[in-house]
Amino acid sequence: MSVVAPGGTLGILGGGQLGRMLAMSARQHGYGVVVLAPLGDAPAVGLADHAFRAAFEDLDAARALALRSDVVTYEFENVPAAPARALEGARPLRPGANLLAVTQDRLEEHAFLHAQGVPTAPGWPVRSVAELEDGLVALGLPAARGRLKAARGGYDGGGQWTIRTAEDVARVREVVADGGAFLLERDVPFSCEISVIVTRGVDGAVEVFPVFENEHRDGILHLTRAPARVPLATARRAQEIARTLAIASGLVGTLTVECFVVGDEVLVNELAPRVHNSGHLTLEACNVSQFEQHLRAVCGLPLLRPGLVAPAAMVNLLGSVDVRPVRWLGAEDALALPDVHLHVYGKGASRARRKLGHVTAVRGSLEEAVTAAEAAARMLRVAPSVGASVDSAAAR
Ligand code: AMP
Repeated sequence: MSVVAPGGTLGILGGGQLGRMLAMSARQHGYGVVVLAPLGDAPAVGLADHAFRAAFEDLDAARALALRSDVVTYEFENVPAAPARALEGARPLRPGANLLAVTQDRLEEHAFLHAQGVPTAPGWPVRSVAELEDGLVALGLPAARGRLKAARGGYDGGGQWTIRTAEDVARVREVVADGGAFLLERDVPFSCEISVIVTRGVDGAVEVFPVFENEHRDGILHLTRAPARVPLATARRAQEIARTLAIASGLVGTLTVECFVVGDEVLVNELAPRVHNSGHLTLEACNVSQFEQHLRAVCGLPLLRPGLVAPAAMVNLLGSVDVRPVRWLGAEDALALPDVHLHVYGKGASRARRKLGHVTAVRGSLEEAVTAAEAAARMLRVAPSVGASVDSAAAR
């Protein structure tokens, strides 16, 4: 059955903020929602008809989720292969387990990209210290800089070691000697980082969102600008790459393609087979949100042609110290700014670098949108709990 009509049930693997916003869209469209999320804070659980609180590795929980769902999707790409395959056997898993497997492993991801003729930063697979030594020679130290990336499991800048100095080289030798698979990559002098969100329907229709520009701080997304400040030809090239990858991977659902812009070239950095932090601003800035488009795709409904309604900017609200419960101060000032929208994920505790919410500003110009979103984010802070120091979202 390829169409799941409103009234059916969407299963979501993962209970984070992406799952929560996806669940909101599902609810709006009249779908039931079931969630599989490990114990702990899971913002999507409050929106679900039922939540299975179990590890992603738990095959019984995955099967139970499938039995209560008409179609299953995920908001988190590190879903282990075994439950993904078990789910896929019981109900449609969209996107499918193959794309999950490719995007979970940076080495497979690079191989897939190169097989489609899509360029990346120069990289060398590393599975032993001997391969690392060869790779370091090819990298071209000390003129070039590079980084070692764990093939699996990295997220928000984790599992990554920059290589600039002799001490860095010694450190990555130790990391590789401890075992595992890695991608050694040369640093590229990018002018900006962009992301392209592409959606493909059950019928093969492909729709691509406008290109967004992303600024990271300490490996975590800080600011997204829409549209990206790149030449039209660069934006078109990035969209074309996303379209190619959606078709080549047999995507049903959403794929986010993160890229570096280097001169006239677009190099793909990373793929995420899901809705994405850089697409949060589609909720207010586009005629269709990434969440609605994804829902339409996985339920076998027609897609919309996405377009930007007005220039927009999104700033993430991160925690800085441990505070629980999370209560926000400054909302009355932040929301007095015209066309500023607040999203709070309802997490029970603030911790350093934790994504607690975001603000989006939609304005007449990109500069105004960025100024408003940054100003709103600075005004918003988590209230200290008794005995705790002030946790300021602006102190990130
Ligand atoms: P990743 O986990 O691969 O998304 O990397 C996190 C961040 O590190 C990226 O958003 C970039 O800012 C930076 N980065 C990763 N790879 C490279 C590279 N090859 N050259 C320059 N910067 C990079």
